[in-house]
Amino acid sequence: MIEPTNFIEQFINEDIESGKVSSDSIQTRFPPEPNGYLHIGHAKSLCLNFGVKEKYNGKCNLFLDDTNPSKEKAEYEDAIKKDIEWLGFSYDAVTHASDYYEKIYEFAEKEIELGNAFVCDMTPEEISKNRGTLTEPGKESPFRNRSVEENLKLFREMRAGKYPDGSKCLRAKIDMASPNINMRDPVIYRILRETHYRTGDKWCIYPMYDFAHPICDYMQGVTHSLCTLEFEDHRPLYDWVGITLGFKPKPRQIEFARLNVTNLVMSKRYLKKLVEDGSVDGWDDPRMPTLTGLRARGVPAEALKDFCGRIGISKANSEVQISYFEACVREYLNIHAERAMAVLKPLKVRITNYPEDKTEEVDFDVNPNEEEKRTRKILFSKTIYIDADDFSLAPPPKYFRLKKDGYVRLKSAYIIKCDDIVFDDDGNVKELLCSYVPESRSGNDTSGIKVKGVIQWVSDKTAVDVEIRKYGYLLNDEEYAGQDFSERMNKNSVTVFSGKVEPYVMENKDERPYQFIRTGYFKRLKVKGKEILSEIVSLKDNFNK
Ligand code: ATP
Ligand code: MG
Repeated sequence: MIEPTNFIEQFINEDIESGKVSSDSIQTRFPPEPNGYLHIGHAKSLCLNFGVKEKYNGKCNLFLDDTNPSKEKAEYEDAIKKDIEWLGFSYDAVTHASDYYEKIYEFAEKEIELGNAFVCDMTPEEISKNRGTLTEPGKESPFRNRSVEENLKLFREMRAGKYPDGSKCLRAKIDMASPNINMRDPVIYRILRETHYRTGDKWCIYPMYDFAHPICDYMQGVTHSLCTLEFEDHRPLYDWVGITLGFKPKPRQIEFARLNVTNLVMSKRYLKKLVEDGSVDGWDDPRMPTLTGLRARGVPAEALKDFCGRIGISKANSEVQISYFEACVREYLNIHAERAMAVLKPLKVRITNYPEDKTEEVDFDVNPNEEEKRTRKILFSKTIYIDADDFSLAPPPKYFRLKKDGYVRLKSAYIIKCDDIVFDDDGNVKELLCSYVPESRSGNDTSGIKVKGVIQWVSDKTAVDVEIRKYGYLLNDEEYAGQDFSERMNKNSVTVFSGKVEPYVMENKDERPYQFIRTGYFKRLKVKGKEILSEIVSLKDNFNK
């Protein structure tokens, strides 16, 4: 028996042990509605569904739940496939609710024949008015007791296009007094003249999710239909469809908690609004929690999957700190990203005792975490740039970076001392005049000078000017929780720097991530045709353990 790692696998094991399903038939599905792009929450569902497939040597289809023609598009379906591919999951088949429209229709007729469904002439407003409340039962429809023959005739006429939108619908005949409102004669088919992105104008009636889903699960051979908690109240209806139609084995619906992450918007509806109102530069804006956004940002698929694995599967809704997600990304990049030198706020440093025409190559560690040490040559010269934040005119106690008359080590190169400061006309620091200690070269330091600070730098002979961006969160943090998203929007989610980087970073045309030492993880990104460097995640770990 397979060792379960969560309650869902425990349920699957129980179903195998009791003989309800055979151990070689386990099948799940990932069921997005093609009405938007996938986000980090979907990654959790993907990891769960494909995780079960892998563990039980079963199957998992990509099932596009396209029962809502007014909101669905091929563009979204294509994007969904691309995102799943990026995460490295392979589905056994691509299926659609629309592939089964004919079959679903037949099952609807069968429900009518069984006396389990009736055509109702009430408007959607009337139906909702008569549905009752949590404390009061609903009122039965006056059309509830139509004969099977009349229902069949009307339902066929609905399909043939005889009635206007919303003038009739097909309802399951269950129980208007049920404590579960979903069981109060729910609508299972509606009339809707809307062009579907796959079936065009073939249909003018469409099944409702609650009726279509169990049928599609069954038709595909799904044994375990995993969905988020908000569908818990729909499970009795899911089961009702399977039982009344005699499904064997009946797929089992199991609910799990949605993933919520602080500072992230996680509803397709709202993400779409951000794209449409121009708050972001499209679904793949690197601030978006969409999978395409995370990919553009440079979040490695492995890090995202690692995060989903660590947060686990639970039955109770909760919110995960964004810093926990970032810690997973940082941990992965720390092991895998090459190091490089970059300065976000360049400050010129002239090394007065270094010959004008001399240059030399110093050895720079590619990644100290690699088992086999690799080094790269970096050019050192008389004029270099350091980060303005690494120099202080009024240093606090224990300031180990550069200050007047203080020493600091230039990473992989020499120790320098700041002798003088050149100011511009406005009194701002324009340039530092330093001297270097020739005997202090890294790897061969005989100077005997002890320095605590090590800073990054780039040579003016090779430095490439480039726009460097850091991204903040789209939403302000928890203290705003519960407020409307528009009030929580972080208006300053992009910070732009005119930086300088060593040429190596721009020579590699791929989008590999780099750790800019002492700064963060960055990658190349094209923004409106322009090549920039954008931050994936900062170096600082602010995760509260
Ligand atoms: P949204 O509210 O963002 O539109 P949805 O639930 O309508 O999301 P679907 O396309 O229907 O999105 O979702 C496909 C699958 O992914 C469903 O099984 C759904 O339960 C799951 N899913 C969606 N959001 C999350 C989330 N935040 N955490 C875990 N699973 C999720
Ligand atoms: Mg949905």
